[in-house]
Amino acid sequence: MNDCIFCKIIAGEIPSKKLYEDELCLAFYDIQPLAPQHFLVIPKQHLSGASEISRDNAALVGHIFSVIADLTKKLGFADGYRVVTNCGEDAGQTVKHLHFHVLGGKQLGSFN
Ligand code: 5GP
Ligand code: ZN
Repeated sequence: MNDCIFCKIIAGEIPSKKLYEDELCLAFYDIQPLAPQHFLVIPKQHLSGASEISRDNAALVGHIFSVIADLTKKLGFADGYRVVTNCGEDAGQTVKHLHFHVLGGKQLGSFN
């Protein structure tokens, strides 16, 4: 997917403020933070969004959530955070590469 912004971030073609990287995923700060703490975790494999999660790649999601738990502890906001993935136009997904927003560092409001 050479026109995908997040694939370009993984390839190092677009700079990012990286927090963590391993063979399966990358975590980096969101360029337009919506909370005092706001980072994204993405699989290195290009999946267009949550609707492409299947039995074949589901372990990747568990791995990503374990990375999120580790990072929120390391960054000091493990006592309260929200993980969000927007999937598709109606949910407002703007980047068509699966990503998990991790938000925290303040009292988060309810959402609908
Ligand atoms: P979505 O709206 O698709 O759920 O979220 C996409 C997120 O990616 C947005 O919060 C946006 O700020 C972030 N984003 C878009 N382009 C870039 C970029 O080039 N670098 C970083 N770090 N974040 C980006
Ligand atoms: Zn991609």
